Amino acid sequence: MNPVTAPKPVLLVALGGNALIRKGQKGTIQEQFENLRVPMRQIARLTESFRIVITHGNGPQVGNLMLQQECCPEVPRLPLEILVAQTQGQIGYMIESTLDSELMALGIVTQKCLVSLISYVVVDPKDPAFADPSKPVGPVYPEEAVPTLPFPVKKTPKGYRRVVASPKPVTIVEQREIRRLIAMDFVVICCGGGGIPVVREGRGFCGVDAVIDKDLASAKLARQVGIDIFCIVTDVPGVFLDYGSPEQRLLSRLCVREAETYLAQGHFPEGSMGPKVEAAIEFVRATGKRAAIGSIDDITGTVAGTSGTQITLES
Ligand code: ADP
Ligand code: MG
Repeated sequence: MNPVTAPKPVLLVALGGNALIRKGQKGTIQEQFENLRVPMRQIARLTESFRIVITHGNGPQVGNLMLQQECCPEVPRLPLEILVAQTQGQIGYMIESTLDSELMALGIVTQKCLVSLISYVVVDPKDPAFADPSKPVGPVYPEEAVPTLPFPVKKTPKGYRRVVASPKPVTIVEQREIRRLIAMDFVVICCGGGGIPVVREGRGFCGVDAVIDKDLASAKLARQVGIDIFCIVTDVPGVFLDYGSPEQRLLSRLCVREAETYLAQGHFPEGSMGPKVEAAIEFVRATGKRAAIGSIDDITGTVAGTSGTQITLES
């Protein structure tokens, strides 16, 4: 095939929350814009070799919106689905404008079109997660406030927090639009915060009070739009065994069977590394293609296969 006209492979980069707010930071908008330059500078370069889709987390941003709502009881409280939509707008804008600046700095802006989509994701109303809301979101409440709160609350290591259902993503509603945009070589930012959770109602959709894990939503997206390399980046260099112990060691290669074994042995906790490994397994099993989990500071190496953890079908 003519190398000039052969379509570039499609890369999905799933950005962790620390792309915007690093540990120990307050999370001002200046900090968030500054932090974003690290991944966006690398992604700008990667646009020369790949067509690119970007997804992102939104935990701290949704948490802050919830906190702001608590401060102003006279304004009607917004449901979670609306807050997720708001963060897709705000983070989509920050990613798009930062990437635009980095592309401009590299002098490739004229060839690149960027688009940030408000995207929703169908969940199953019968998903068992609805019967047992367990994902903590938003602020910590004092114990005496708990009986007055209009939603389920659980005691977490940080204190009392609201818990919501975290159902599995079933399908990405805008998958056709995303496929077309990829085909036209747009950089597509979508499925922010795991997507706005909706259930089907007759011929339409209805938002639900839940949150979808962004790594699992990204795996679903990756399968549905034909991603070639699925890359999850976060604040650690990759997947470790015995993480946090003096014996911890980085796994630079992992086949699906090994990943499943370590997952079952409890090396990857539910709220953090667990869904990333699960998402990688799901994608690699379904497509036979490569997934990688690595550091946001070295997206380039993680994509190239020289750093992070590379997850493949066979070892
Ligand atoms: P993100 O916002 O990127 O989704 P998470 O906090 O959900 O980030 O997940 C990344 C975190 O997972 C790391 O900061 C690390 O503390 C934690 N972690 C737990 N177990 C492991 C493990 N086995 N290997 C690597 N990191 C792990
Ligand atoms: Mg996470």
